[in-house]
Amino acid sequence: MTSSFDFTIWPPTLTNSQLETLTLLASTSALANGLLYLPPAEKQPNIPSAAIHAPFSLFPSPFPRYLFDKARRLQNTYNILYARIAMDDEFLDKVMGAEEGLGKVDDFIGQLWRGWKQLRDDGLAQPLHLGLFRSDYLLHTESGGDLSIKQVEFNTISVSFGCLSQKVAALHRYLLQTSGYYQSSPSLRKENFPSNQNIVGLASGLAEAHNAYGVVGARILFVVQPGERNIFDQRPLEYQLLEEYSIQIIRQTFDELAETASVDPSTSILRIACSRDIEPSGFVEISTVYYRSGYMPHEYPTSGHYTTRFLLERSKAIKCPTIALQLAGGKKVQEVLTQPGVLERFLTDETRYGKGVLSVENVNELKESFMSMWGLDVGEDMLLPDLEATVAGTEHYGVRKARKAALSLVLKPQREGGGNNVYKEAIKSFLDNLPPQERQAWIAMELIHPPETGNYLIRAGTTQSESQAPVKAETVSELGIYGWALFGGLNKNVKEREVGWLVRTKGKDSDEGGVATGFSVLDSVLLV
Ligand code: ADP
Ligand code: MG
Ligand code: MG
Repeated sequence: MTSSFDFTIWPPTLTNSQLETLTLLASTSALANGLLYLPPAEKQPNIPSAAIHAPFSLFPSPFPRYLFDKARRLQNTYNILYARIAMDDEFLDKVMGAEEGLGKVDDFIGQLWRGWKQLRDDGLAQPLHLGLFRSDYLLHTESGGDLSIKQVEFNTISVSFGCLSQKVAALHRYLLQTSGYYQSSPSLRKENFPSNQNIVGLASGLAEAHNAYGVVGARILFVVQPGERNIFDQRPLEYQLLEEYSIQIIRQTFDELAETASVDPSTSILRIACSRDIEPSGFVEISTVYYRSGYMPHEYPTSGHYTTRFLLERSKAIKCPTIALQLAGGKKVQEVLTQPGVLERFLTDETRYGKGVLSVENVNELKESFMSMWGLDVGEDMLLPDLEATVAGTEHYGVRKARKAALSLVLKPQREGGGNNVYKEAIKSFLDNLPPQERQAWIAMELIHPPETGNYLIRAGTTQSESQAPVKAETVSELGIYGWALFGGLNKNVKEREVGWLVRTKGKDSDEGGVATGFSVLDSVLLV
């Protein structure tokens, strides 16, 4: 199937006065409905009294309906796949471990793995894992001109923008309702604006874990970063958990937890010391630990921060995610999944998964979403389907191949949160300076080629002189699909759901796409 939509005609042309009216409607709606960020710390008192709206696009961005449906369908398979990876200690040790895997050369991954290994040796108190996932895709123009979806990455820790992206979808529906977007395009019709219910969906995953823990009065712990500005993307989950399930939340940073958290040696219950105003005993029991932090090395400035992480991990509270699940989300794992036979190990091996095996169609559909990837440390002896003539020399084959194809590649380390990758022209000199022992920590990935399109991007101005005018830009949009999975224990069953979606749109010439780091805006889907 192909899409006949002409992406280059987007966004529709509007007059200056139409743009001005829409910008006012959009900005006030964003402020009214909590599509917000906190201003930088130096501009706010301890208890916030003002907020700014998040950056957003004025129009939704076009996405072929059948590819959107496909991405949502794939999520169920991805949920199961990553759950099974997280339960496969042998595989994770080999790929990410500090003895055989890349934990040898990546200190952060090595620290996490060693802590996890120690806890496994001591015996883990909680067999269940909860994952709130987001699988990210770009549209890709195939050589024949057809469009497909290709996975950028799969996130297993602290996935963000679920709540805010629901609000952007609502914002775009509101602009359609109130203005018809001035009949500027026949595609601007209600049935092309899919509904987005991330808040209900993500909260239901957390509630599922809480209920599996099964203690009335226990709370969910949100482990958060100090000075978090993206709080309006987190609070709606709390409100939903409280309203729909009567589940109370407690929010703490690693530094606070170092003072307040304890694990009972005989029961493995995780307790947080709290004010007696909250709980007369001065302690709350935690059912589920939900990380909106903990994925970057600088969040662990001392060994004490790792100690806190491992303390939580040791408890019988259900972790979202466990260390195993965090490691499963490594970009190295994504690359290993493209190697022959690996997907089959997790999805179609009856000796492992019995009736839980998936169909060949499911597996093929998943494979279609992969770009070509390889490890920089891959040797000449490694079987790769697209292996070219063997090159002699001292460099690993993977490095030589990356030099040769540099202009069509991105190199990625095992990091999250944006700003860590090396692109195209920068690759050669990067490789010249990369110590050989660090090659194992990097993967090479072929660049995805999204169709050319555009949008009006709006950023909040914070002073009179800062312009809030929409900027018309050539753009690239990344689709994310959210899902959750609760799994583990003896039967290895996976309970999972696909819950909703996100679009982030960036200027075409910016390589990275983090909303929080200021390179992109929140957006929604226009089905075409
Ligand atoms: P992070 O975990 O830091 O978000 P990503 O793998 O998502 O890392 O890379 C960051 C950004 O880089 C993506 O949002 C996307 O804009 C761009 N990017 C990553 N991989 C590719 C690729 N194969 N082709 C084109 N752009 C890519
Ligand atoms: Mg990403
Ligand atoms: Mg990521």
